[in-house]
Amino acid sequence: MIIEQFFDEESYSYSYLVGNEERNATLIDPVKNNIHHYEIRLKKLNLNLIYALDTHIHADHITGLGELREKFGCETIMGNQSKVSCISRTVSDDDIIFFDQLNFRAIHTPGHTDDSYCYLLKSDVGQFLFSGDTLLIKGNGRTDFQNGDPSLLYKSLHNKILKLDDETIIYPAHDYNGLKSSSIKNEKNLNERLHMDESTFIDFMNNLKLEDPKLMDVAIPLNLECGVLK
Ligand code: FE
Repeated sequence: MIIEQFFDEESYSYSYLVGNEERNATLIDPVKNNIHHYEIRLKKLNLNLIYALDTHIHADHITGLGELREKFGCETIMGNQSKVSCISRTVSDDDIIFFDQLNFRAIHTPGHTDDSYCYLLKSDVGQFLFSGDTLLIKGNGRTDFQNGDPSLLYKSLHNKILKLDDETIIYPAHDYNGLKSSSIKNEKNLNERLHMDESTFIDFMNNLKLEDPKLMDVAIPLNLECGVLK
C-alpha cells in the first residue's frame, strides 16, 4: 500500500493518493488545479484510479471530483448530506467503501460543515484517518459557515474521533504551518482545543473572527456541481 500527500499552495490544502496491492487507487480531497500532478503519479506508479472522494463540500478550492470522473471513469463519493447531484455514490455514517483487500470506513463528523466525513483506512501496517477539516494538526476546522456547529463538532471529535486507537495516523485536509501528519495520541496531548470543555470550546469557536476563504463565493456553488461548469 502507498499513501502520497499533495499540497496545494493556493489553499494550503492536502490531497491524498492511496494505492493498494491490486494497483487500484483512491484520491481523497483532490484539487482541480492539481489533477496533472495526480495523473503523473498514477501513471508512474501504474495505478488505476477507481475512487475520488471528498470529505465535505470545500469552500477554499475547486474539487477535482467531476474532472477525474470524466477522465478516469472513477466513482465519485461523498456523504449523503452533501446534496451534490453529480456524485456517483453517497455514503452514510459507518458505511464501508471496499478497496480490494483494504477498506475505508466513512465516519460522519458534522461540525465543520453538516456534510463532513472522516474516512478511516485500515491496513496491515496500521490505520489512517483522513480527517478532512474535522481534526487538524493542533487545531480543527472553523464552524462559522456551511451549517457549521461548534457543539456538533465537539461531539464528533470527542464521541467519535478521539475514541479511535491512539496509534491512528491523522492525515488532515489542511495545514497552515507545514506539518504533514499527526496521530490521535499526539492530538490528545498537544491539541489544546481538545482539552477544552464543551462550553469553552463553543465560545472559543464562536469568537475566532476568521476572514472568509478567498475563493468561497466561487468554490461552494461550483463544488455543488463537482467542480465542473455546466
Ligand atoms: Fe473545509
